[in-house]
Amino acid sequence: MTRAVIAFGANLGDREAAIASATREIAEAEGNRLVAVSPVYESAAVRLDGVDPDAPRYLNGVIVIETDLEPHALLDLLQRVETEHGRTRETRWGDRTLDLDLIDLGGLRLSDDRLELPHPRAWERAFVLQPWLDVEPDAEIAGRGPIAALRAEATDEVVRR
Ligand code: AMP
Repeated sequence: MTRAVIAFGANLGDREAAIASATREIAEAEGNRLVAVSPVYESAAVRLDGVDPDAPRYLNGVIVIETDLEPHALLDLLQRVETEHGRTRETRWGDRTLDLDLIDLGGLRLSDDRLELPHPRAWERAFVLQPWLDVEPDAEIAGRGPIAALRAEATDEVVRR
């Protein structure tokens, strides 16, 4: 089995409920085993042109699983779970009931038209790095280094719930 780090974010609707049921669905999917669930943090919405203080705030966190799924099958699962939670994809960077990103899959480096690993922006996002650090303090991002050092450099604000 391969260790996978999945980040979630939700800024519309019942955010806690969406996160809780997504965690359950991912954990219970065939081929997956839940290893760790991070604390939940709150963060401001980020648009293409920067932080939007007027947008509804996000709840963020990560889960760590062990998985037998291939990278694209795991992405399929995450996109299915997003869709079930009513996420629409009209605007990129728009508000969403549930966003699931595959952050790291056993250190694999991969880039194609559907999937980039490790996730290309995780290294600079405190709302991913902080919860990840809470559950895997010694983790590293392939090509970027230890997440503890990356977290120290990240400037976006996250607040523990
Ligand atoms: P977003 O709207 O930010 O959730 O981006 C979704 C798109 O990013 C989808 O079309 C995915 O195929 C693509 N994508 C590329 N790499 C990843 C990744 N590591 N995790 C999740 N989605 C990814």
